[in-house]
Amino acid sequence: MSSQKQPDQKDILVVYHSSDAPMEKWQEWLSRLDPRIRLVALDDEASHQAEVMITWSPPYGAIAARPHLKGVISLAQGVDHLLDDPSLPRDIIIGRLIDPFMSESMAEWVMLAILKQHRDEAAYAAAVPRQEWISLEPRIPSDYTVSVMGIGAIGGHVAEKIAYFGFNVLGWSRTEKSIKGVTSLTGDEGFAHCLSQADYVVSVLPLTASTRDIYDASVFQQMKSGAYFINCGRGLQVMEDDLITALDNGHLSGACLDVFRQEPLPTGHPLWSHGKVTVWPHVSAQTSPITAAKQVLASILAIRDGKPPVNPVDISRGY
Ligand code: NDP
Repeated sequence: MSSQKQPDQKDILVVYHSSDAPMEKWQEWLSRLDPRIRLVALDDEASHQAEVMITWSPPYGAIAARPHLKGVISLAQGVDHLLDDPSLPRDIIIGRLIDPFMSESMAEWVMLAILKQHRDEAAYAAAVPRQEWISLEPRIPSDYTVSVMGIGAIGGHVAEKIAYFGFNVLGWSRTEKSIKGVTSLTGDEGFAHCLSQADYVVSVLPLTASTRDIYDASVFQQMKSGAYFINCGRGLQVMEDDLITALDNGHLSGACLDVFRQEPLPTGHPLWSHGKVTVWPHVSAQTSPITAAKQVLASILAIRDGKPPVNPVDISRGY
C-alpha cells in the first residue's frame, strides 16, 4: 500500500505500477540517484498530479485516467503491455528500456537452451543414475545453423554471441543489419529461408499486429525436420496447440519456452508436462533497477522537461 503522504514541493512525483517488482525497490535505487523522486502507487491520490509513469503492464485506462501524464516509461524492453491498451492517448510519449544487462542475460539464456541440446545434456544426465560412463558423437558448431528472429537490441546481441560459439547464424528483421558473424535477412523470403535452414529457431520478436500468432502450423511445418524452437519474445506469437502437434508428430525435436499465451502458465496446461518442452517462467531477461535506474531517471527528467526519453518508442511502428 502507498503511504498517501502529502507531496513535498521539491518532490518529483512519478506514478509506479508493476506486478514484477515492489515499488520500494525502485524507490530505493532512484532515490540514490535523485532524492527528489517520489514514487506513488495508482491508488494514491497524488498519482493524478504526476507527469510521468514508470510501469510494467498497467491496468487498461490507468494512463488515460491521469491527464497530467506527459509520458510513460516501460520498465521492460517490450512495450506491447502499454500499446495494447485501447484507451492509450495517442499523443503520449513512451520510452522503453534498452539495457545491456538484459541483452546479456538473454544471450546467456539462449546459449543455455542451445548448449543443453548441442552437448546432449539430457542423455549424459540420464546416464548418471545408471552409473554409466557413456560417450556420444561430438557435434561441431559450424555444422549447425541458428536463426534468430528479431535482431534488435536484444536479438542482435544474442545472435552475435551465438556466432561467437561458431554456429552459423541467420538473423531476421524488418530492415537489414550489419552484425558480426550474422547473415542478415529480411522480408517473407528471408523469413522462409531462416525457417528452412535452422537447426535452432530462436525468437526474440516484439509483439505487434504482424507478429501475433506468427508461429502457427504452417510455420512449424516450414521449419527443418528435427529443428528445436526457442521462444523468449512473447507468448501470443505462438499457436501453442500447433506447436504441441509439431512436437508430437516428431517434426520438431523440442522447444524451450520462456513466454506463453497466458502467464502464469495455467496449472494443468499441457506444456507444463510435455516431455519435449522446457518451461521457464518469463525470466530469461529480467529488469533490474540496479542496472536500469540511471536510464529510467534520465527519461523521467527528460519527459518532465518536454524532451524525448532515453529510448523513445515510435507508437505507430508498434515496438
Ligand atoms: P527491438 O525493438 O530492439 O528489436 C526488435 C527486432 O524485431 C528488430 O530487429 C525488428 O526489426 C524486428 N522486427 C519487429 N517486427 C518485425 C517484423 N514484422 N518482421 C521482421 N522483423 C521484425 O526489441 P528488443 O530486442 O529490445 O526486444 C525484443 C522483444 O523481446 C521485446 O519486444 C519483448 O517482447 C521481448 N523480451 C522478452 C523478455 C523476456 O524476459 N522473455 C525480456 C525482454 C524483451 P528492425 O530492427 O528492422 O525494426
